[in-house]
Amino acid sequence: MPIRELDDEAVRKIAAGEVVERPASAVKELVENSLDADASRIDVAVEAGGTDGIRVADDGVGMTRDEVRLAVCEHTTSKIGGADDLDAIATLGFRGEALYAISAVSRTTVTTRPRGGDSGTELVVEFGDVVEVAPAGRPEGTTVEVTDLFGQTPARRKFLKTEATEFDHVNRVVSRYALAEPDVAVSLSHDGREVFATTGQGDLEGVILSVYGREVAESMIPVDGEGVSGYVSHPETTRSTREYLATYVNARSVTSAPLREAVLDAYGTQLAPDRYPFATVFVEVPADAVDVNVHPRKHEVRFDDEAAVRSRVERAVEDALFDHGLLRKGAPRGKSAPAEAEVRPERAEQTAIDDVATSEASTGEHAASVDGGSVPSESAGAGGGSPANDRSSVHGSATPRAGSAEPADRQSWPAPRGVEAQTTLDAEPAVTTPTFDRLPRLRVLGQLHDTYVVAETDDGMVLIDQHAADERVNYERLRAAFDDDPGSQALAEPVVVELTARESELFGAHAEALDSLGFRAERAGDRSVEVRAVPAVFSAALPPDLLRDVLTEVVREREVESVADRADALLADLSCYPSITGNTSLTEGSINDLLSALDDCANPYACPHGRPTIVEVDGDELAARFERDYPGHAGRRLD
Ligand code: ADP
Ligand code: MG
Repeated sequence: MPIRELDDEAVRKIAAGEVVERPASAVKELVENSLDADASRIDVAVEAGGTDGIRVADDGVGMTRDEVRLAVCEHTTSKIGGADDLDAIATLGFRGEALYAISAVSRTTVTTRPRGGDSGTELVVEFGDVVEVAPAGRPEGTTVEVTDLFGQTPARRKFLKTEATEFDHVNRVVSRYALAEPDVAVSLSHDGREVFATTGQGDLEGVILSVYGREVAESMIPVDGEGVSGYVSHPETTRSTREYLATYVNARSVTSAPLREAVLDAYGTQLAPDRYPFATVFVEVPADAVDVNVHPRKHEVRFDDEAAVRSRVERAVEDALFDHGLLRKGAPRGKSAPAEAEVRPERAEQTAIDDVATSEASTGEHAASVDGGSVPSESAGAGGGSPANDRSSVHGSATPRAGSAEPADRQSWPAPRGVEAQTTLDAEPAVTTPTFDRLPRLRVLGQLHDTYVVAETDDGMVLIDQHAADERVNYERLRAAFDDDPGSQALAEPVVVELTARESELFGAHAEALDSLGFRAERAGDRSVEVRAVPAVFSAALPPDLLRDVLTEVVREREVESVADRADALLADLSCYPSITGNTSLTEGSINDLLSALDDCANPYACPHGRPTIVEVDGDELAARFERDYPGHAGRRLD
């Protein structure tokens, strides 16, 4: 095809598709519009995760016939007058593109009546064309109904995930706004069932109860600092996902890595590895000290003084935990202690993940899943031969958040034994590790930061991430055992596990998958399940509340569809736990043992979460780094 300019319609449809990515993004825009319209109640109802229908009804200011006609046009807004107003935005919307974009990719019906007005209007838009504007009866307020989303953009439609996953995104969006606006009665229903409903009576605690359930609500601690308020959970009430860390800036729900980091940092070591608290934290900053105009879809913000905001949040949460006796006295507080001032590389990685994720239930959180909750820690770290059910040993080998490098508190390997422990790099190889089938021939040179094995290869040099390698080995052993016999072990006493609204919804959608993994669980109430049997891998029975993490696992962004995939994701998460893998020898064994076990793996090159186990720096790259072919040497070789 020759290069040509796209016509206006094509350009607009492409742009609209970028604003509305999935049902949840439409829901988000519609709920924001209702809030901006001063609604005191908002009812959200979706069908089939929003793929079949979305309806958002409010009792807000409504629109006149002329206003609603304008509202669905491109770049029409009643919220800002011009570019100057962008510096101090007080409303949630301001781009004037949402209604236009939604109605460009669906059949959209807006029924509205202005406050104090005596008539209502119904306006129907089909894929960008206004097909009807007619008088209609309706109380004051607005209802927007969206059907046939992406009906004319099959590529978009195909990109949608399962109904359960799409609903999960909707649920997150609506929950966030319900938590942000306790004064507004927000309800959410799915396929005619009510998922949650808040009263609009202004108490955040009540909203937390509605959305997260009793167990979580009871564990919440009020935060009340300088321009920072909200609730955070007791360090033992956690989940395997950052999903429940909700942060708000000037009442706007935001995805802010620095704010989440601040909350997590406040907990310090009180949080078990890979566990995340519930938090609903509101931060106030002057409107002109924050830019909310960063990205139309992702709720990102940019602060003029990020460090100051961050430390305000950290201090407020710390104080709250401290006041409740949940932070140890004498533990270093704030950033004053030098030991705390280290640069933590895994945080940087998380930030990046936050930034790219369009959803927070996304990648980057697949590491450990076993509930770190109420486990006594005395025997943590106890070495070999831990009894199968001794969950405390689960936490013995600390795994870093998001499974990335964290030299300080990750499992520390003993120094290489005997001849392998070469300290001088110029010595002749005292021992060459056995020849491998899959791995290249290696000569181990030593260890770096107790984290990486450094080895020479014929081509150059390799670094092996011990933890990632260990996970890969454990994972493949678990996998083999599980394929052999996906066992289930009955609990002596059934255990009741309380669920959040989200988890409860997921339980409904994924009960079969749980069953096939070995969980025997039944609903015991609206928001709780009774677990009678748990998966048994090797000799270890898994803790019943792992069920929650499994539910979360099934709706991660890299969505796993088949039961086999679900089992796989679970096993990948469990592979960091020696007590479950029954594998203590590796963590205590020699580097050679690890390398030959890794070599035996079907895929030795990546940990089960996809991170590399081995990084190679070949001779050419080394030569290039040292500029050995620098023209100044006039072609002379240096060696
Ligand atoms: P924005 O929210 O950025 O202004 P939208 O396309 O979302 O852009 O909405 C366009 C306009 O339509 C809004 O500025 C507002 O005047 C009006 N509007 C949209 N939804 C509602 C609603 N639920 N109640 C009242 N007015 C609404
Ligand atoms: Mg809007």
